[in-house]
Amino acid sequence: MTTLHQDALTGEWVSLNGDRQSRPVTDFETICPFCPGPSSEVGELPFDVAVFENKFPAFRHPGNAEVVVYSPRHYDDLAYLPPARARLIWKVWADRVHDLEEEPGTRAVFIFENRGQKVGATIGHPHGQIYAYPYIPPRLQAELRYFAHTCPLCRDVPDTLVLSRGQYWRLEVPWALRMPYQVHLVPERHVGSLGELGEEEQREGARMMQQLLRAYDRFFGMRTALVMALYQTPAARAPYHLRWDFMPIDRGGGKIKYLAGSELAMGAFVVDMVPEQVRERLQPALDWEEQEGEKLGE
Ligand SMILES: [Zn+2]
Ligand SMILES: [Zn+2]
Repeated sequence: MTTLHQDALTGEWVSLNGDRQSRPVTDFETICPFCPGPSSEVGELPFDVAVFENKFPAFRHPGNAEVVVYSPRHYDDLAYLPPARARLIWKVWADRVHDLEEEPGTRAVFIFENRGQKVGATIGHPHGQIYAYPYIPPRLQAELRYFAHTCPLCRDVPDTLVLSRGQYWRLEVPWALRMPYQVHLVPERHVGSLGELGEEEQREGARMMQQLLRAYDRFFGMRTALVMALYQTPAARAPYHLRWDFMPIDRGGGKIKYLAGSELAMGAFVVDMVPEQVRERLQPALDWEEQEGEKLGE
């Protein structure tokens, strides 16, 4: 049973569930609930992309939690899927955003992936999640106050922060880094919700997302553990400019950026990098993916 508790110190909501601790943790490679089969949560039949309600939801109505399984194959990864499959996933996301926003009680829809065990993925099979929050999460609430006045993403970004510019999107390193190799994928157009993107915008966004993920893997020399998150306008719509946020927890040399005293206790991030360094270091890997990686994928 999930209950929402409001923090009397800040007014922030937290979602608590004593039963979720019993969800599967260890059976990564033995019985996978997301591989098609007799005991699977996705059924026995092959599929392209599957969506279903999370058996161990973070919310119960109002609110919702869904799982998006990217592929029937256990060792696939969003970064390396054929481009057509990545585009299909974007379409599925847009459809689910549209439906979930219509549901009574939904205040904000959040799409994300915890990529890798190090960031808490309990099932190895590539998948992402969608939360329909019954409240507006604190980070989004804080951002909305800024967007109400002027859009911080509709601006000229210095070249020293830009990793790549497409026709519709740019990959930029955020000025105020919260994680060492954080990157934003931002539409050039002032658009608030994933559902408002046109087909060509989705197509290019999917391509640049895959390129960035592969560039991370190339740079770190392994499958990079990261959180990938979509920030978009609340269900009731407010001035906003959507973005995908990529937050690797690796900081190079096999070291991990832990959230510790300042971050956990105060929400104040301390990072041993400046954005220009991030851009410089990731640039060669991304350039390679743009020039050579596509030939392998199409
Ligand atoms: Zn599997
Ligand atoms: Zn904007």
